[in-house]
Amino acid sequence: MCGTDSPASINKSSLPSANGNDTGSPTCSPDHVLNLEQGDPAVFESYWRKMGDRCTMVISGSQLMSYISDFTNICWFMEPEFEEAVRRLHRVVGNAVVDDRYIVVGTGSTQLYQAALYALTSPGGPEPVSVVSAAPYYSSYPDETDYLCSRLYKWAGDAYEFDKNGTGSYIEVVNSPNNPDGTLREAVVKNRGDEGKLIHDLAYYWPQYTPIIRPADHDIMTFTFSKSTGHAGSRIGWAVVKDKEIARKMSKFIEMCTLGVSKDSQQRAAKIMGVLCGGYQNCKSANKSDDLFFEHTRQIMAERWERLRQVVERNQVFCLPKYPKQYCLFSGELIEPHPGFAWLEAKEEEEIDSQKVLRGSIKVQGRTGRRFGVAEKYVRISLLCNEEEFKEFLERLSTIKSMTSNGH
Ligand code: PMP
Repeated sequence: MCGTDSPASINKSSLPSANGNDTGSPTCSPDHVLNLEQGDPAVFESYWRKMGDRCTMVISGSQLMSYISDFTNICWFMEPEFEEAVRRLHRVVGNAVVDDRYIVVGTGSTQLYQAALYALTSPGGPEPVSVVSAAPYYSSYPDETDYLCSRLYKWAGDAYEFDKNGTGSYIEVVNSPNNPDGTLREAVVKNRGDEGKLIHDLAYYWPQYTPIIRPADHDIMTFTFSKSTGHAGSRIGWAVVKDKEIARKMSKFIEMCTLGVSKDSQQRAAKIMGVLCGGYQNCKSANKSDDLFFEHTRQIMAERWERLRQVVERNQVFCLPKYPKQYCLFSGELIEPHPGFAWLEAKEEEEIDSQKVLRGSIKVQGRTGRRFGVAEKYVRISLLCNEEEFKEFLERLSTIKSMTSNGH
């Protein structure tokens, strides 16, 4: 579990209280370790709380009992309502081409990543296919790729290195915007014809994080309910796939792993996506933009980034990436990205271990750059936490004066 962005163990004190406010979150005493290592999307809870009962649904004991959803679909365990909701959501946002594309549902995009690796490789090849991604890459790719010691594929590290020295068949994973550093990315391995295949992980290609610069149109694109609306606990992801055979193989993989994907979760996801999209149809003209999911959450992320940059600039210990403004087709404005993670780089010394310093001096747990394939002077901090935790993080960060004086 420690390889993923998911909590290694669930701490009940970090669960929101039943009355719907944040008072059940961790007490922010100075001794408490503030865990900002995982990207658990609590930041979006306040929006859905505001929506009250609009997303509530009732499932009776006799509903959704069958394994099967639609045998005429390649992805026979996908609920038709879910597929429709996914296509509608992409049409509303304009972040991906979905016409004449296959949709495959998965238990999170984590399962779809593995399904895609399986679909892009064939048994009996001379060697396992190399899987690469440009550093800093999402820290789960190496673990997820090698966990089962597959003979079909193996993790081969940084795509820039592979571009220089690597040989043979490869799969490049392009994560855009990139976790951890928030940059918009393209493939880096120069096209080698049939030897290379691409998976585009577009978990964060949504308007609250980044300008939507074009409808993405790649062979395999994966998305997740976790980072689009914030419903990580439903474990729903989907892939948009150009090629029928690839969609079939991905579905087969999921059939072999889990014999489908929870229908309850698919139905709940369809309902929530429907409410989100309905908001755009009903509210935009009425100019009630605070009721609209992406406007509301983009505002929260923009404010968090402004407050974070002020603290980081004032204490001069770390620096943050600068992101160019780009024209967003969704909002019709020039906007700056506001990634879900802060990618902090220590200014002072090359050799410093930033994760250790943050943990030792202000009891903030981030994730070291080493896990993302780069130096330990980098540390990733989740900005998707609840407001109380975010405020506490800024207060603690503002007390750091220098890496060495505060250190170990
Ligand atoms: N890709 C990236 C880049 C992610 O950050 C995450 C979640 N941390 C995932 C995939 C997996 O998401 P899911 O919850 O859908 O498995």
